[in-house]
Amino acid sequence: MADQEYEPDWEVTLRRQPASLGSGDPDNTDTYEVICCKCGDDPALDYREASAGLRQIRGPYPLMVGVTVFLQHGELHSTAEETTAQ
Ligand SMILES: [Zn+2]
Repeated sequence: MADQEYEPDWEVTLRRQPASLGSGDPDNTDTYEVICCKCGDDPALDYREASAGLRQIRGPYPLMVGVTVFLQHGELHSTAEETTAQ
C-alpha cells in the first residue's frame, strides 16, 4: 500500500467561538477553539460543559495562535500513532 503518507481522518477542528462567550469587551477580537475528538472532545459540547483538560486544548486562542495549536495538535496525534502502532 502506498497511500499511508497522509491520513485524512484528522478529528481535530478549529472553529470560531461564539461571541457570547467572550469577555464582553467590545474591542475583543474573535477567538478560536480547538476541538479534538481524539482527546475525547465533542464539537457539540459547549465550552462550559467541557472538562478542564479539554478546555486546555480548546483555548480559546486568537486566530493565529489557534491555527498553530491546531496544526501542532494534529501532528501530536500522528506522531503518537506512529509510535504506538506496532
Ligand atoms: Zn487531541
